[in-house]
Amino acid sequence: MIINEAYINDLLDSTQNPTLEDIRQVLAKAGKKQTLTHRDIALLLQTEDPQVMAEVFRIASQIKHDIYGNRIVIFAPLYLSSYCVNNCRYCGYKVTNQMPRRKLTRAEIQEEVRLLERMGHKRLALEAGEDPVNCDMDYLVEAIKAVYDTHSDNGAIRRVNVNIASTTVENYRRLKDAGIGTYILFQETYHKPTYEAMHLGGPKRDYNYHLTAFNRAMEAGLDDVGAGVLFGLYDYKFEVLALMLHNSYLEETHGVGFHTISVPRIKPAKGMDLAEFPHLVSDDQFRKIVAILRLAVPFTGIILSTRESHAMRREVIEYGVSQISAGSCTGVGGYKESDARKEESQFEVADDRKPMDVLKELILEGHIPSYCTACYRTGRTGDRFMSLAKSGEIHNVCQPNALMTLLEYALDYGDAEFRSAVDALVEQEMDRVTRPAIREKLVENLDKIRQGQRDLFF
Ligand code: SF4
Ligand code: SF4
Repeated sequence: MIINEAYINDLLDSTQNPTLEDIRQVLAKAGKKQTLTHRDIALLLQTEDPQVMAEVFRIASQIKHDIYGNRIVIFAPLYLSSYCVNNCRYCGYKVTNQMPRRKLTRAEIQEEVRLLERMGHKRLALEAGEDPVNCDMDYLVEAIKAVYDTHSDNGAIRRVNVNIASTTVENYRRLKDAGIGTYILFQETYHKPTYEAMHLGGPKRDYNYHLTAFNRAMEAGLDDVGAGVLFGLYDYKFEVLALMLHNSYLEETHGVGFHTISVPRIKPAKGMDLAEFPHLVSDDQFRKIVAILRLAVPFTGIILSTRESHAMRREVIEYGVSQISAGSCTGVGGYKESDARKEESQFEVADDRKPMDVLKELILEGHIPSYCTACYRTGRTGDRFMSLAKSGEIHNVCQPNALMTLLEYALDYGDAEFRSAVDALVEQEMDRVTRPAIREKLVENLDKIRQGQRDLFF
């Protein structure tokens, strides 16, 4: 069984009002990056004491710093199709919403990709609603090919992650053969009664088929899977524990858990009213979720989208988040539309800054924005990736790759001021590359990049 609802409810009941001693023991383990039990995680979720939470945030920041350094990976979503046969109560694309539907043609995909390349993006997350007629696997595989085939003066997309509906082993094999990076699927809510109340029609209504999607994906050889829930559909404490149960299940049955976890919070959309959702997550609860996830699964990337405001993104990057989207458009064909409108505001995303502004601020605040995609391209996926991450060795490749991709970005897209800020950052961050052989190769590669070579990686 992947999710045992009674077990989660028992955990939450038995950990109410945790003692300081209980919490201290959990924090001591977390501080040493030891595996937390489900009960440990429940104890943290049940704590409301501000002093204890301050300690949780401090340890989460420490773990983030030890494992991810000050690097933050940048990506952008690309919406392919708004056709959808499902009726998810919380989503603007649901079948009952009368609206013009469209999907991008190959030419339109390539046009969007060129605009994304012009912004410097190298890593995309493809998004599409579920529609076996208008957006079938043939269309999706062709779309992935179209992205990889688009090479412009501004480079190329180096890795495509895919967020599409739960499907068959055979279809997952086709995605694997198309060369995708991570397969992403959000459970939305792990609480079955809520799941059924939120998904009123369409194939997605089948809770078990949705829940077992990663089993089929892994059977097909897609060993990097990205999970998530839509926070606000049900009690966040239940959802965090359920995520951890799902992760443990995959570790036990397939040898590797989630590669990433996304933490979207429900937002207003056409045809729904937030007032109908009694489990909305406050900002304080959201901060707590990110920090506890960082303690619970230190080696799993945490992804944040532009659904969150600039201020919230800035804060949670400090204690957990390792990947963010930048310059995102969340509509089909949105990059072209926003390009045509130039300075007009685009969508109701909460953080609509251009990637360059996001990067400038990240650098000012001491982060290294990274466009690295090296692991997917060197076959460091699944348990190979996880064992390198858990040994701490991954840092020896992440850091030089971040510096090389940032230098490329600065040379290709930055003005003189940005380039000099990046030069200074690269100089300063070289010290963190401690292995002499890697450092030597990095110096050589940085030089080659300055001479015009691109796409070098460890
Ligand atoms: Fe929206 Fe996805 Fe549900 Fe379709 S399946 S209605 S796109 S959440
Ligand atoms: Fe991610 Fe691998 Fe690049 Fe590190 S080296 S940033 S883990 S792709």
